[in-house]
Amino acid sequence: MAKKKVKNKVPSKAWTKYKDKKGRFCPKCGPGYFLAEHKDRLYCGNCHYTEFSKK
Ligand SMILES: [Zn+2]
Repeated sequence: MAKKKVKNKVPSKAWTKYKDKKGRFCPKCGPGYFLAEHKDRLYCGNCHYTEFSKK
């Protein structure tokens, strides 16, 4: 077996850092599914929910 790099990655905690920024989670999928930021809208890649940002 080749050498295996040990990664201490915790997926459930990966999104917590985004909470400090904006905390824009998908209202349909719930916490963990954060919305992708586009220039004028937010988009959920899981359920294709789109939220247009107001100015
Ligand atoms: Zn969603």
